[in-house]
Amino acid sequence: MMKDNWQYYARYTLKGANQSNDFFKIEAFKDQDFPIKIPLEFAQLIDKSNKNDPLLRQVISSKVLSKSENFSLLPLEEEKYSPVAGLIHKYPNRVLLITSQVCAIHCQYCFRQNFNYSEHDAISNWNEVQNYIVNDVKINEVILSGGDLLSLSDDKLSILIDNIANIAHIKTLRIHTRSIVVMPSRITDKLADTLNQSRLNVVIVLHTNHAQELSVKFAQKITKLSGVTLLNQSVLLKGVNDSIKILTELCLKLFDLGILPYYLHMLDKVQGAQDFLVKDDDAIQLHQQLKNNLSGYLVPKLVRDNGNHSKDWLL
Ligand code: SF4
Repeated sequence: MMKDNWQYYARYTLKGANQSNDFFKIEAFKDQDFPIKIPLEFAQLIDKSNKNDPLLRQVISSKVLSKSENFSLLPLEEEKYSPVAGLIHKYPNRVLLITSQVCAIHCQYCFRQNFNYSEHDAISNWNEVQNYIVNDVKINEVILSGGDLLSLSDDKLSILIDNIANIAHIKTLRIHTRSIVVMPSRITDKLADTLNQSRLNVVIVLHTNHAQELSVKFAQKITKLSGVTLLNQSVLLKGVNDSIKILTELCLKLFDLGILPYYLHMLDKVQGAQDFLVKDDDAIQLHQQLKNNLSGYLVPKLVRDNGNHSKDWLL
């Protein structure tokens, strides 16, 4: 299999504690409920001599095993807003589809790490999902999430996007993905053609937390998505990006690559992610400093998903 083929990287991913400890020559990885998974393209960006490397920190669990107050298995209770399996409808104009349970990487702060994917697959339940969207003309935007949609093949993606484009009142397709940051080989010519040529307004919201994740290869590949609006959202993570220098660098580097910073999310309080929590006061202070450092259009909105119908704007 060719080495610049994304399936190669998807297959030869570091999995489990033993492989990861061997690769990084450390003993910090432990096997756990949310299994370790690190794509090679991401692993190669990690400084093996730095045990506090900000990319390493995101994939290594330093889990507090005892239960913590206010942290739960499913912090956003998304299933409450799922009228049809695989579809989440929180806001009148848009629906979110769960399209895959697979991710290129397992981020240890992930709020969906305990999500019941087996009962929520919008693709296998497509007829019901489609009927629901067709029958509600207020919906003009479809958001594709997962897991990570881009773990599907280009052919499956193309069919799904065509099916969505066939619903006349849908204007915008938004894709939330971390795959193309952690595995840039995923941006194939066929994927780029599908997205660039769609009749829909296509928006990709990348999930990037640190400028070190934005590799040379990513910078080359992202230019293929010339017909797509590119935004970024980050999670504010203690020990990863909770510094004004790091956040400023990230926003500037994103802009250099044609990507606008969109959201800076407070951590969703999932059990096991306690060590990543940044306090509200510290987050607000960081955000104020960002406003001083950057032009307004480069400052992401500081938000927290409140698990109900909306986001809390912290500022
Ligand atoms: S890529 Fe996104 S959905 Fe997948 S583990 Fe990371 S945060 Fe969770």
